[in-house]
Amino acid sequence: DSADIGVTGMAVMGSNLARNLAHHGYKVAIHNRSASKTEAVIDEHGSEGEFFPSESTEDFVKSLKKPRVAIIMVKAGKPTDAVIEELAQYMEPGDIIVDGGNSLFTDTRRREAAMKDRNLNFVGMGVSGGEEGALNGPSLMPGGSKDAWERLSPMLRDIAAKAEEDGEPCTTHVGADGAGHFVKMVHNGIEYADMQVISEAYDMMARALGLDAHAIGDVFETWNEGDLQSFLIEITATVLHHDDVRTGRPFVDIIKDEAAQKGTGAWTVQTALDLGVPVTGIAEATFARSVSGDVDQRAAAQKVLEARTADEKIDDPQQFIDDLQKALYASKLVAYAQGFEEISKGAETYDWDINLGDMAKIWRAGCIIRAKFLDRITEAYDRDPGLKLLLADPYFAEAINDCVPAWRRVVAFAAANGFPVPVFASSLSYYDAIRSERLPAALVQAQRDYFGAHTYKRVDDEGSYHVEWTKDRSETRTDGGQG
Ligand code: NDP
Repeated sequence: DSADIGVTGMAVMGSNLARNLAHHGYKVAIHNRSASKTEAVIDEHGSEGEFFPSESTEDFVKSLKKPRVAIIMVKAGKPTDAVIEELAQYMEPGDIIVDGGNSLFTDTRRREAAMKDRNLNFVGMGVSGGEEGALNGPSLMPGGSKDAWERLSPMLRDIAAKAEEDGEPCTTHVGADGAGHFVKMVHNGIEYADMQVISEAYDMMARALGLDAHAIGDVFETWNEGDLQSFLIEITATVLHHDDVRTGRPFVDIIKDEAAQKGTGAWTVQTALDLGVPVTGIAEATFARSVSGDVDQRAAAQKVLEARTADEKIDDPQQFIDDLQKALYASKLVAYAQGFEEISKGAETYDWDINLGDMAKIWRAGCIIRAKFLDRITEAYDRDPGLKLLLADPYFAEAINDCVPAWRRVVAFAAANGFPVPVFASSLSYYDAIRSERLPAALVQAQRDYFGAHTYKRVDDEGSYHVEWTKDRSETRTDGGQG
């Protein structure tokens, strides 16, 4: 008798994924570098299903039904390379190695190519939903070949989260080689922006309105009943209603305000820079964490940098709260639109056939950014698969237009009164830039032509031109055409 599938890496994610598979009736081979973790899974959860524990990689691979499927859930980077190499030694042509860790998509592309040379299938799979998701239903974003997807899909569809709306499993074949990990990376970047916009709304309620954590928790609870309904808003309300067990004070008030990061936000931004896609919301959210974490700089600034604010009073707190809700929603729409743009540009660059509407679909349950409005994104791409910009879809255009006056009031108030709202403000600037008929880029082009002879295009003629700036300032055509 042999196992249907194997999982190596029995830390929290791997063990929970193995249990999830076992709960769905699969025979699951399990393995970990240090055997104690494997034993612990058998001791604590052995009765939950059929597990085939192995101490060695060789026995682990041998315990698998052919064509074999082994999922790796270990630390990203070098450990993942080491485990792939170990497994590959014992695997046979047609077998499938799945990397479910948070790997950088370029690593996945490299690994997929290397395994292909050895006639092995390699699938980089984004897994979202944390440990709870891994156990009860994550959102799964597998890349790799179509053949590998055919073999994997019944199992992945069984263990994935199911969307509340239609029961559809939150997984699909994202695209070739690194597409799955790319989409997971952008998902995490969007998550950064989503968390930051929520925090900016919280900060304004706390500092500008002087509301306490519980009162703000009530506001988020109300917001969770409308367009903003999402897992992140829901847990925010729960956190704000929680009192510290030691002091009895609101829990959020006893936490140091220094945000940490594990790097997927930075990857999203770095990749976006390479692709030339403006992900301003995600970038500002990532930078906001860095700003918060630089304690020495903040201390130095606090000593000498003054607020010099207008100290305006808020006449109508409820109106201000309603405005914040709209500023949050609009900024969130911008961040999602930009994230989808990055996926679209990535797909074009790396030749992945990614269905953008399906990406929103498989994020509807299981993952951290699950939210009511993802359905609207799917509908937008169904209406127009070639949509140039999510915000240009009629539904989203109307939704964001409706938020604009409130959004401007919030950003203006924050600026006048000294509250940092990096994502609210930069998203509004992006919004105003993208809808502007004419941008100051014309002047930038002139400057570039002046110091670097980088040439420019004219509004009234074809071709590329250069002005002899330091000579007679005559214009010459540089692309060989007549002009
Ligand atoms: P960790 O990232 O903490 O990794 C621990 C596991 O990696 C252990 O099983 C450990 O084995 C193994 N390991 C480390 N180095 C090596 C090596 N050189 N050779 C073999 N095995 C090694 O575990 P998590 O469960 O938190 O995460 C697993 C993967 O899933 C990671 O890539 C993570 O980024 C990703 N992920 C995590 C999420 C989360 O919420 N935690 C969400 C989504 C993805 P040993 O016991 O022998 O040390």
